[in-house]
Amino acid sequence: MAIRAALAGLMDLVAPRRCPGCDHALDWGELGFCGACGPLIERLRHGPAAYDYGGPLGEGLRRLKYEGRTDLLEALHALVVPLAGAHAGKVDAVVPVPLHPDRLRRRGFNQAALLADAMARELGVPLAEERLIRVRASVPQASLKESERAANVHRAFEGRRDAERPRVLLFDDVRTTGATLRSASGALYRAGCSTVRVQALAGVP
Ligand SMILES: [Zn+2]
Repeated sequence: MAIRAALAGLMDLVAPRRCPGCDHALDWGELGFCGACGPLIERLRHGPAAYDYGGPLGEGLRRLKYEGRTDLLEALHALVVPLAGAHAGKVDAVVPVPLHPDRLRRRGFNQAALLADAMARELGVPLAEERLIRVRASVPQASLKESERAANVHRAFEGRRDAERPRVLLFDDVRTTGATLRSASGALYRAGCSTVRVQALAGVP
């Protein structure tokens, strides 16, 4: 384990960090998105999604999700952390939108949980993955027409009760129509939550 950690540290020195948006190597000491991609990330003014999914952020999230590029997490976390202020003192736990166990097994990780982890640490509350489970496999929302999306995720989730931490922040990487977040919020309320705040990293304006 110590050897593996040492090797990972060495790799950080040898392999340059990459920009999640364009995958170009960053200059030494440069963090996050590169100078060309960074300014293209648009902050959304309204709604539960923080940034426009189009452009470099969407590219970065696709690389993370479909190419397993967990090396990009540090840069993506830098976009998550500033969102914590709005929820500070208002939640007792952060709950990531879960994947169905079959998909989790195939992908090997839940990107929403990996991103939500930065939020939970910033807020100083637990990341509570166990609070929500996906009981029904659904087709990826992106492949469906808007009218089909609510039905696709209807009753797809089941919440777990935790009377000690009734106020939660539900977190997802991407919000499209909001159907997934609505369905997941409903499950958390049915499981006794008093407050369910919602935050997505990216969304369609
Ligand atoms: Zn870039």
